[in-house]
Amino acid sequence: MGNLVLFSELRRRLVEHLDLMSRIAAEGDGASALSMARQEVPRLVAALRVLVDEHQPDENGCCKKCRRGPIWRRVSSPCRMLLNVHLAAEAATATTQERACWRPKRHRA
Ligand SMILES: [Zn+2]
Repeated sequence: MGNLVLFSELRRRLVEHLDLMSRIAAEGDGASALSMARQEVPRLVAALRVLVDEHQPDENGCCKKCRRGPIWRRVSSPCRMLLNVHLAAEAATATTQERACWRPKRHRA
């Protein structure tokens, strides 16, 4: 199996699994959501910890993993991975709150 095929397959499986977890969390009954959460949250936390451990700041505050380009062009900036994770978590929270607060519109008689 070539690298591209392996990468694509691993990515596809992960995306499908994440989609399934999202559907169960949003649409599944309470027992299914609780069961899924108990099984999957520790796995998600472990996966995020791997990313956090990989993205450490250097002595100048640049992420060792995210920096690219020649050393004279590098500027101190927050880690792109950490920013993306925070933005995604905020977006998911907003979506969840919208769903929790959503009420069907009442039709006037
Ligand atoms: Zn980084």
